[in-house]
Amino acid sequence: MFETIANVACTRCACVCDDVTLTIRDGRIDQIAPGCSLAEPWFAEQSRLCEELVSVDGQPASREAAIARAVDILRTAKSPLIYGLSRSSTPGQRAAIALADRLRAMIDTTASEGHAPSILALQQVGESTCSLGEVRNRADLVMYWGSNPAVSHPRHMSRYSVEPTGHQIPNGRSDRRLVVIDVKETETAAVADEFLPLREGGDLDAILALRAELQGQHLDVEATTGWSREQVSRLADHLKPCRYGIVFFGYGLVHQPNGHLLVEQLLRLVTELNAFTRFAARRMRVVGDVSGADSVLAWQTGYPFSVSFARGFPRYSPGEFSAGPALARHDVDAVILVGSERLETFPPAAQERLRNVPTILLDGPTATPDFEPTVRFTTATYGIHHRGTAYRMDEVPIPLAAPLANDLPTDADILRAIHAELGE
Ligand code: SF4
Repeated sequence: MFETIANVACTRCACVCDDVTLTIRDGRIDQIAPGCSLAEPWFAEQSRLCEELVSVDGQPASREAAIARAVDILRTAKSPLIYGLSRSSTPGQRAAIALADRLRAMIDTTASEGHAPSILALQQVGESTCSLGEVRNRADLVMYWGSNPAVSHPRHMSRYSVEPTGHQIPNGRSDRRLVVIDVKETETAAVADEFLPLREGGDLDAILALRAELQGQHLDVEATTGWSREQVSRLADHLKPCRYGIVFFGYGLVHQPNGHLLVEQLLRLVTELNAFTRFAARRMRVVGDVSGADSVLAWQTGYPFSVSFARGFPRYSPGEFSAGPALARHDVDAVILVGSERLETFPPAAQERLRNVPTILLDGPTATPDFEPTVRFTTATYGIHHRGTAYRMDEVPIPLAAPLANDLPTDADILRAIHAELGE
């Protein structure tokens, strides 16, 4: 006995492809189409485990007892933190923000471990941007800078950027030029029309040389970038006359000591290219609904991440109110984790602190954090067990179906229950 469900959205990565067909056999996801090396194991794992595990101090507990313990922890906490939100959905994110407001807590998303430098940059210089639909239909020049989507976002090139046909791109791949800039030859570089290997740390000079080239000036950056003057000129000569260009940039650019300045320069380059043609930039967001976490937090508080309600109103201070540094400084005495994504990227001192403060974890059945939370709730995975909304990497909201709907509570249910027990 099997059934097929079409047009399901996948939230394994921030592409949030919503054209997936699932074959469900005996209550489990048996096949997905089109194939994707990240999505296949993820869907299989989600359908294998759907037990509700609730624990307090490592011992099985009822949901009510766990909520009571969570409330006790939060009543005595002087500086709580709510962190995560990128595997959640709009209702869970709203409930988390309302609880942070009630607790006068710090609230932060996984963006502070991901594209925070890009967000700081675009707050400084703005962003010429577009939807992935525009890229699919119009872009004849596609550039990836410090990103390897062939591995990190396996269907990005086939669904949105390089291979599809579009209104202005009738012949698909053969109508587009793919340029890859990276410090090593990646799987994406291997299929590019032009791969420009860059020396480690050479990004700033490379971008400045391209900016100068647009003004008719030539900078000699070969020593720091490995790019000859002819290579810089040739790249500029490809960027200027394209009909519609897009640069997707990833952690290879962003996660450098001066990442926010590098992104700022790249965004300036893109703005200046608009004197010649239509050109846009997009961040390669990683986790399924990290764009939703930014969007809902910005909509509710005015700020996209690293927010504190300690004074009774939202304040924004990346670094000061970012989860990792705040934990490392012992500024936090209790933590609610809405998902356990990206905890491994915290600095060691923050990870150590996480093991020594009371923690309340809300996560899906397949989560395996490498520490024992004080209180643990198993919550439904949006897009598998429960309906919801996820924001794709271009901030387009995508409705999520519930192909394996079950009785697990959502993170919004648990957060609202804790909030109700605490009172206003
Ligand atoms: S590219 Fe990402 S969103 Fe699309 S199917 Fe693969 S894992 Fe899912």
